[in-house]
Amino acid sequence: MSYICLYRNYFDNMIYNSVQKEIANKIGDEPSLSNWKNWKWQIKHSIKTLDQFEFLTGIQFDEKEREKLIMTFAKFPLSITPYYLSLIHKKNYMNDPVFKQSFGSSEELITKKAEFADPLSEDKDSPVKGITHRYPDRVLFHVSNLCSMYCRHCTRKRKVGDVDFIPSKRQLLEGILYIKNTPQIRDVLLSGGDPFMLPDDMIDWLLSQISKIPHVEVIRIGTRMPVVLPYRITDNLISILKKYQPLWINTHFNHPNEITASSKEALAKLADGGFPLGNQSVLLADVNDCPRIMKSLVHKLVQNRVRPYYLYQCDLSEGLSHFRTPIGKGIEIMESLIGHTSGFARPTYVIDAPGGGGKIPVMPNYIISWSTNKVVLRNYEGVITTYKEPDSYEPKNCDRNCENCNLELNLDEIDESAAIGIEKLLSNDNDTISLIPEDNERIQRRNEYTS
Ligand SMILES: *Cc1c(COP(=O)(O)O)cnc(C)c1O
Ligand code: SF4
Repeated sequence: MSYICLYRNYFDNMIYNSVQKEIANKIGDEPSLSNWKNWKWQIKHSIKTLDQFEFLTGIQFDEKEREKLIMTFAKFPLSITPYYLSLIHKKNYMNDPVFKQSFGSSEELITKKAEFADPLSEDKDSPVKGITHRYPDRVLFHVSNLCSMYCRHCTRKRKVGDVDFIPSKRQLLEGILYIKNTPQIRDVLLSGGDPFMLPDDMIDWLLSQISKIPHVEVIRIGTRMPVVLPYRITDNLISILKKYQPLWINTHFNHPNEITASSKEALAKLADGGFPLGNQSVLLADVNDCPRIMKSLVHKLVQNRVRPYYLYQCDLSEGLSHFRTPIGKGIEIMESLIGHTSGFARPTYVIDAPGGGGKIPVMPNYIISWSTNKVVLRNYEGVITTYKEPDSYEPKNCDRNCENCNLELNLDEIDESAAIGIEKLLSNDNDTISLIPEDNERIQRRNEYTS
């Protein structure tokens, strides 16, 4: 045995630690390193009942708590991969971020007044089954409602795990056809559930169909596999994905404890495959609502070539009230990142507007005041400074079709669509001076006077 092989075995054993061996032994179905690292074995042996959880972890709940938990899992099903289960620190499990994200609590049965089954109105913005078309140039395509683990904080709790299903090619073709017939779509975001729950040949087929559409410029995949089932990132999967560049991959780490030897290996495979990697975290009470935890997470992410993309304010989904924090907590976290650490290590903090308004970015305030020729700003240290504006600046009048653009920018390539929203108020060639809600009473009264 060469030195390299010895080293390799040592590394493999690190990935298969004593806790994992104990769980595999208790599961009993041929416990071995090669099975442990087989993603299908992991899914087959996912923990779906309270009894299984108690047996495998040795954690016991009293009768009263068990009753409540059984009711909770009847409403929002339980599913934890053996791998993710092995990350729970049993000694202090009640405070463990992995336990909280995977096992949940009977508090999920509490529904507050402001909470909805579909807070983002994804169903209302759905032209065909599986597609959410909210933004002008991109769509969300739900290609499976399976996940290897059911996150307790999932926004799509109402869908994920409800009826486990992998859509047929025929169902997916409806979505593909919509994308084909909608030329403004240049970015397709595959989501779910988890798209990597689909078998390799289905992923290959789906990506080949979408990438054939001429107006689709990029495809994105949102997956939690590197976090909850890193063994899903196989060499075969990578070789399939490589055929469909440019492909961006976003994952979902919420806590530094989730970054393990196995997840690092999965991320390295993806990064070596040439896919730009991003991460979307959700701000969760008692899981990661702490500037120090978040800073440690983003540092670990960038060390593994993952760029923090979004930090989400927890949605108003049913059963998530115990996970929600005030928005102030997110602002405090951003305050502790901006300026304090590398610019590429900080995510954009967003609130997904209830009712389907899309993501709204939120930041601490850096502009303190403003005059006609000076802006007063503060930096991350609290230093107050001024920026002197130019004495003369000739605004260019843009009618979106001017000579300069035609000559210099090659108009074929630039966006010719009309300005919308606030953009419209800022543009020079549009006379709109205000945006008024359709049901504004004052304006309705005016119309009555004049009619
Ligand atoms: C988040 C989201 C997208 C993608 O938004 P980006 O800001 O481009 O990442 C697209 N469609 C829907 C419905 C979304 O929720
Ligand atoms: S991986 Fe995503 S879709 Fe699946 S349960 Fe977790 S948060 Fe929900």
